[in-house]
Parts: sequence; structure tokens; C-alpha cells
Amino acid sequence: MDIVIVGAGIGGLAAAGCLLKRGHRVRVYEQAHELGEVGAGVQMSANAVKVLYHLGLKSQLDVAGVKPKAFEFRRFDSGEELHRIPLGDAHLERHGVPYYQVHRVDLHSQLLAAVRALDPDAVATGVRATGVVEDEHGVAVQLDQRPAVRAELLIGADGIKSVVRRHVIGEDAPVFTGQVVWRCMVPVERIPKDLLPDVVSSIFCGPNNHGVMYYLRGGSLLNFIGCVRRPWEEESWTACRPWNELDEDYAGWHPMVRAVVENVDKDQCYRWALNNRKVASNWSTRRTTLLGDAVHATLPYMAQGAAMAIEDAAVLARAIDLEVPLEQALKIYQQHRVPRTSRVVDESTEMAELYQITDAEAMRQAFAERNIARSRNEWLYPYDPLTVALT
Ligand SMILES: Cc1cc2nc3c(=O)[nH]c(=O)nc-3n(C[C@H](O)[C@H](O)[C@H](O)COP(=O)(O)OP(=O)(O)OC[C@H]3O[C@@H](n4cnc5c(N)ncnc54)[C@H](O)[C@@H]3O)c2cc1C
Repeated sequence: MDIVIVGAGIGGLAAAGCLLKRGHRVRVYEQAHELGEVGAGVQMSANAVKVLYHLGLKSQLDVAGVKPKAFEFRRFDSGEELHRIPLGDAHLERHGVPYYQVHRVDLHSQLLAAVRALDPDAVATGVRATGVVEDEHGVAVQLDQRPAVRAELLIGADGIKSVVRRHVIGEDAPVFTGQVVWRCMVPVERIPKDLLPDVVSSIFCGPNNHGVMYYLRGGSLLNFIGCVRRPWEEESWTACRPWNELDEDYAGWHPMVRAVVENVDKDQCYRWALNNRKVASNWSTRRTTLLGDAVHATLPYMAQGAAMAIEDAAVLARAIDLEVPLEQALKIYQQHRVPRTSRVVDESTEMAELYQITDAEAMRQAFAERNIARSRNEWLYPYDPLTVALT
């Protein structure tokens, strides 16, 4: 099949790789002139790693990724452990592949190399899609300052501000969630040795705010994501903010968090607005469908947004090879993916409540009752997009 994908983020590249491996002709159009990823780290659990291995990324992940021993949830000031999700060997034994933490730039460039190894001309940069026209013979993507391109199938992997989504679902602007995130990276040599966390994903949970820390690139960098409930004042979704605002957000926090805040590059403190939408139930037309943030953007509090985009990619590639007409295959894909991605969006929103409880005792109790280790090990991580039954 002749397939066009709009967007060469993690989702678009994963889809290109899965489809090329199945023998389809794929063209990916990306608006950015230079390919890359914003932000620092990304966590990849077994449900996504299985697809990355399928695309041949095992050895690269083993070199570039860090394998954390656990998620450790701690109280923001005392550091008291509230809950633990074992990762490391436990994740590998239970789910068949490791849990990795990877620099986004590394993961993205590995995916791009895998796609280009399958077809060197598959990805075109500096090409912006502006609209979509569909008729019974096919679908055409309109491009900025270029002739439109036709395809048998169009996939919108163009992120939360998706143009393709507008064609499929109509106008519905993303909604600000009331949460913003600081994203910083600190070389570990700047941090006193006794304040370096263990090789885990540390989540310090406090009133209306939680901070996530984990290592990247062989443990040479400490990635910090500070998630704060506050109004958004800037026009742009991303803004470089004065360091003292970061400092104020984490005043009185545990010395490990303070060590990060005090050692970041003070002119490199970026804050993002977090937006999402309710997951749509209609993702597809006859010849156009969506994946990733274009259709189910989520708060990042289960570390699953990119993982869901990768799962979508693998399931979509399998669905269109079923012995059914394309329109029906797209329905099968959507019906299969809506419940799971909706659950991730809903539970990620719920996590914002859990991780940001003001009262220490109430937080202790909520973690004990919720038992997210059991829940995630039972439904989230065991899913295999390469083999799950598509009905
Ligand atoms: C703080 C934070 C931490 C996160 N941590 C994790 C994590 O640990 N694990 C995880 O799984 N997920 C995580 N996520 C979520 C994850 O980053 C996203 O869900 C994921 O990157 C979405 O990928 P995508 O390919 O769907 O969209 P995007 O990454 O948004 O890619 C869309 C691409 O389409 C291009 N594009 C857009 N419009 C057009 C157009 N008109 N024409 C051509 N090209 C276009 C864009 O330039 C972009 O390259 C996190 C998110 C945040 C904010």
C-alpha cells in the first residue's frame, strides 16, 4: 500500500518502521527542517520496548539506555518511601524485556536510522502539511509551497496540534490541564555524591507538585521533571523562565531535589504547559487515521504517551494487513486502541491527584489503597502490541 505519514516524532517513525517492515511504501513528511526531539528523557516500558526490539533497536537501547531498579515514590520533604514499583530484573522476568530510560534525542535518532535502513528516502523534512482532501479514489495531503501528495492511506502522527485530526474529527482545541512541567538536565559531577539518588526513577510527591528524577546516558546526566499545578501565564506553550521561579517551586524540598535545582544551568530553565483532550472515539475516515498525541495526548504521569504512540504504530500496521477492506481495518485498529489509550489518559489524570496530595498521612493511605505497582503490572506492562488479538 502507498502510505503517507504526517509527523516524524516517535510515533510517526515507529509507524514508518513497522509498515516498511511489512513491505508497504511509506513517505513521512515532517515540518521541522532538522529532525530531533525536545525535552530530555523518556521512559520505555515492556509494552513499547517489544516494538522497539522488533525494529532492531535492542543493542542501541542496551548501550544508550539506563535500566532503573524501581520507581520509588517519596514524600517531598522527608524522603519517606510511600510506594515502590520494582523494575530492573523484576520487569524483565515478568514482562520479557527490560524497562529503559533513554535520552529522547538518542531514541529518536535510533528510530530514524532504523527507518532509513529500510528505505533511505522514507523521511522528508521541512515539509508542512496544511490540509487533507479525501475522495473514493484516495486521499491527498496538501503541503505548504509544494504540490499535494496522494496516498491510499494517510496517518496523522502530527502531535497535539494535529492538522490531520482536524480532517478526521473537526476543530477541537486542546485544553490546558492546569499542570505545567519544568524540564532540566544536570551532569552528575555537579551534584555531591551523597545527594545522588540510587539508579531508580525517584518521584518526590508534595502539595500540588511532584518532581521526577532519573539518570540518562550511562548515568552521566540526571534528568529532572518538575510537575506543578499552576495557571499558565505565557502565550507560548514553552517558555524559558527565571531560575528563581524554579527555586521557589521547590523551596523546602528534600536535599536531593534541592541539589538538582541548585545545579541546573540557570539560564536553561524551561517550563511547558501540559494540554490534553478527552480521547476521541472516532479516529478514522475511510482512508485516514491518527496515532499518538494527535488523538490521545495525556498527562505524562504514567510515562506512557510515547509508549502508546509506539503501541498504536504496531497495532495499526498489523490491522491494515488483515484480510478485510481498509475502512474496516481502520475500525478494528480504533476499536482495539480506544479503551486502552482512554484508560492511560484517565489514570494519568488520576495520578496528578495521587502524587500531589497535601497531607502526608492522606498521601500514605492513598498510595497503600491504590497499589499502582500491582495495577500496572497486571494491565499496562504485559500488553504485547505485536501479538495481541485484533478482533
Ligand atoms: C514532561 C513530559 C515527560 C514525558 N515522559 C514520557 C515518558 O517517560 N514515556 C512516554 O512514553 N511518554 C512520555 N511523554 C509523552 C511523549 O513525549 C509524547 O506522548 C510523545 O512524544 C508523542 O509522540 P507523537 O509522535 O505522537 O507526537 P510528537 O512528538 O508531538 O510528534 C509530532 C511530529 O509531527 C510534526 N508535525 C506537526 N504538525 C505537522 C504538520 N502540519 N506537518 C508536518 N509535520 C508536522 C512535529 O514537528 C513533530 O515532529 C512525556 C511528555 C512530557 C510532556
